[in-house]
Amino acid sequence: MAFPSTSILSLLLVLLSASWATSTSIQENFIQCLDDNSEHFIPTSAVCAQNNSSLTSVLNSTAQNLRYLEPSVPKPQFIFTPLIESHVQAAVICAKKLGIHLKFRSGGHDYEGLSYASKIETPFIMVHLARLRSINVDIDDNTACVEAGATIGEPRHWGTHHGRCIWYHDEKYGLGADNVIDARIVAVRGRVLDRAAMGEDLFWAIRGGGEASFGIILQWKIKLVPVPETVTVFTVTKSLEQGATKILYRWQQVADKLDEDLFIRVIIQGANAGKNGGKTVTTSYNALFFDDAEGLLQVMGQSFPELGLTRKDCIETSWIKSVLYIAGYPTITPPETLLHGKSSFKVYLAKSDFVKEAIPGTALEGLWKRLLEEDNPLTIWNPYGGLMGTISESEIPFPHRNGNKFMIQYLTAWQVGDKSASKHMDWIRRLHSYMAPYVSMFPRAAYVNYRDLDLGMNKNINTSFIRT
Ligand SMILES: Cc1cc2nc3c(=O)[nH]c(=O)nc-3n(C[C@H](O)[C@H](O)[C@H](O)COP(=O)(O)OP(=O)(O)OC[C@H]3O[C@@H](n4cnc5c(N)ncnc54)[C@H](O)[C@@H]3O)c2cc1C
Repeated sequence: MAFPSTSILSLLLVLLSASWATSTSIQENFIQCLDDNSEHFIPTSAVCAQNNSSLTSVLNSTAQNLRYLEPSVPKPQFIFTPLIESHVQAAVICAKKLGIHLKFRSGGHDYEGLSYASKIETPFIMVHLARLRSINVDIDDNTACVEAGATIGEPRHWGTHHGRCIWYHDEKYGLGADNVIDARIVAVRGRVLDRAAMGEDLFWAIRGGGEASFGIILQWKIKLVPVPETVTVFTVTKSLEQGATKILYRWQQVADKLDEDLFIRVIIQGANAGKNGGKTVTTSYNALFFDDAEGLLQVMGQSFPELGLTRKDCIETSWIKSVLYIAGYPTITPPETLLHGKSSFKVYLAKSDFVKEAIPGTALEGLWKRLLEEDNPLTIWNPYGGLMGTISESEIPFPHRNGNKFMIQYLTAWQVGDKSASKHMDWIRRLHSYMAPYVSMFPRAAYVNYRDLDLGMNKNINTSFIRT
């Protein structure tokens, strides 16, 4: 039966006003419940509704993958920005009481937008933790307490003044998570628990493997590690025409056995100016050494002379400036930049692999061929070994320890609105398949921080434990 157009319009209006009424009542009920369950006053400005013009700017403010801001992706019903811990407790209690899904966002860097987008848990409320970002350092205790909303640059910036820092990942001090010694979380019934109160099993679980499954992290207590006054950094680039394949093969053999004061990762990209002005692949060895240039040249001469590092490649600098350098900022960038976070704001898809045996030259040739097919391919190879290899694979939920030479991240990025998005996604999926024989297998491992939903996801909230 055909509806007259006016009837369609009225039906649409009825549906729209019904959904508007539903979203308004969810919001009103939630705010009322927050008021009833928080010991402290919650200002109305802490809740940003879908009809509020600020919702988009708050939502977009720290969302890193623009793929999840596209109109077709369901947005939060509204955004709640807690100002203190008890607001988070109230949000958890109220979500449970009212049967509403919550998505917590700390930094918003999730590759698949899991902190601010959802195709299965709708409607949902986003809890934006950006205002819970204090950092308290106890120099005598050699620890820092960092709230969940702080970005990684903030505690690192603090290191400028104290010769100590919060670690992220390398062969010398292990992972950031290896250095966590306590935490404060809001558990499922809204109670705040520290390590002693939550017990060792839960404390083990929250240090990896999808923290959101176990509670809301309010704060990490992290052991600080010493950093020297002067460190040395360098970036040496070799293109295919400059023997990149042979040198990369050699790097794979030494990367996990290098001096523990030396970290060398490889950034591999497509570039112009190959043979006859065409395209080529470049491999950039991007390094940090915990001492001066003279010491670095000695270590490199003994362990990786094939790279041909010279004194003029080496930049002696302070620890804090090395953080900016490794993050790719220009050398004149002031350290305060770390306080504002770095936004890449691109549309991208990424994947990862762990590698246990050096990838042979012939396989690298196949990789180059594939990188040359794509517009903006990027792969970053991060060395393992050192302290990473000495920590038991069950110490925390991060099993990629002894036996892993390095980790690969693959990424392709494109512009918002690019009509060939599916072509880019197909490309990286094919690349991932191509690499299968050369990387960890049974099971093929991936890095949880480089979220990749192609590896699987729950189809709905009732997914069984076995299926998960
Ligand atoms: C530009 C860029 C560079 C990166 N570089 C690195 C790198 O060098 N090394 C590395 O290991 N990773 C790196 N990552 C990946 C990054 O570490 C992960 O995406 C990490 O999850 C980001 O933390 P976040 O607080 O920003 O996450 P969010 O996007 O805020 O959240 C990620 C997940 O955790 C949940 N969650 C958020 N806050 C909480 C909380 N307080 N309690 C419980 N659950 C919560 C969310 O709901 C979501 O499921 C990078 C990402 C980007 C975009």
